[in-house]
Amino acid sequence: MRSDVTQFELTAPATLTEVLRRLADNPGRHTVLAGGTELMVALNTGRLATHSFLSIQHLRELRFIRETPDTIQIGAGATFTDIRGSKIICAELPLLAQSASWTGSVANQNRGTLGGNICNASPAADTPPALLAYDANVTLISAASMRELPYRDFHLGYKRTAMRSDELLHTITLPRIYAGHRQYIRKVGTRNAQAISKVALAAIALVEAGRIIDIRVGAASLADRPLRCTAAETVLIGQTIGGEGMEALVRKARAALAGEAEPIDDIRSTAKYRIAVGANLLEEFLRSL
Ligand SMILES: Cc1cc2nc3c(=O)[nH]c(=O)nc-3n(C[C@H](O)[C@H](O)[C@H](O)COP(=O)(O)OP(=O)(O)OC[C@H]3O[C@@H](n4cnc5c(N)ncnc54)[C@H](O)[C@@H]3O)c2cc1C
Repeated sequence: MRSDVTQFELTAPATLTEVLRRLADNPGRHTVLAGGTELMVALNTGRLATHSFLSIQHLRELRFIRETPDTIQIGAGATFTDIRGSKIICAELPLLAQSASWTGSVANQNRGTLGGNICNASPAADTPPALLAYDANVTLISAASMRELPYRDFHLGYKRTAMRSDELLHTITLPRIYAGHRQYIRKVGTRNAQAISKVALAAIALVEAGRIIDIRVGAASLADRPLRCTAAETVLIGQTIGGEGMEALVRKARAALAGEAEPIDDIRSTAKYRIAVGANLLEEFLRSL
C-alpha cells in the first residue's frame, strides 16, 4: 500500500557532523536519503520502516572523486554520472565506469549515488560486482568513530550489511594496480537499458608467461548478496591459460562457480538459468585471456 507522505518528515542538516549526531542520538529512527531513487520506490510501495528521512544529498563532503599515488577514492555521494564522466575512473577502473553507465536511466544516474547502490544492498545491484573484482575497501563513519573494512566483508546476507544504524558509508577506496590486468564485465538482462540484471559478472586477471597470477571475480544475482566468487578464483589461480589443459580448467572453473552460487527463482529469472549463464560468462572471460 502507498505510504501517506504527510506521515513522513525530511530534514536536511547543513553538515555531515550534524547528520552523524542525529544518527547517534536516535539510532534506527532515521533513514538516510542520498539520491532517493531507491527510497522513493520504497515510499510508494509502503515498504519503509521509519518515518524520518535525513537527507545527505546536498553534502559536498560526500561527493568527490580523488586520487592519491596508490588509490582512487570515491565519496559515497558521487553519482553514477560523476563516475562515468570521470577520466581517471574510465581509464583505470573501466568496469566501474561501465556498470555506472548501465545503471537505470540517465535520470537515475544523475541522482543515484554509489553509496546508495552499495547500502541498498540488493544482490542484483550493478556496481558491486566491479567493486568486488577491484577489491575495494569501504570507510564507515559515525559520530564516535571511523573504520575501514574490505568491501567483500560488507554484505552479510539479503539486504543485511556490516554497517551499524549510527553509521554512514563515507568513502569507497580502490587500489591503482590494474593497468596490466585483463578486465571483463557483462550484464545479462531483459533489455540493454533500464533492466535489473538476471546475472552479471565482473572479473579481472593478471596473466604472466601464460599463468594466472592474480584473479578476482564478482557477481550479481547469483546469491542473496553480491557474490565474490572465491571458489572459482581458487581453482584458477596459478593455472596455465590455453594449451592442453584449458578445456579441463574451464570445466573445473564452471563447476566451482556453480557450486558456490545460490541464486533464487524470481520474476526476472530462474536459479537454473542464472547458474548456467553465470558459468557461461566466466568461461567467456577465461577464453578472452
Ligand atoms: C527506475 C529505476 C531503475 C533502476 N535501475 C537500476 C539498475 O539498473 N541497476 C541498479 O543497480 N539499481 C537500479 N535502481 C536502483 C537505484 O537507482 C540504485 O540502487 C541507486 O544507486 C540508489 O542510490 P540512491 O543514492 O538513490 O540511494 P537512496 O535511494 O537515497 O538510498 C538507498 C539506500 O541506501 C541508504 N544509503 C544511501 N546512501 C548512504 C550512505 N552514504 N550511507 C549509508 N546508507 C546510505 C539509504 O538509507 C537507503 O537504505 C533503479 C531504480 C529505479 C527507480
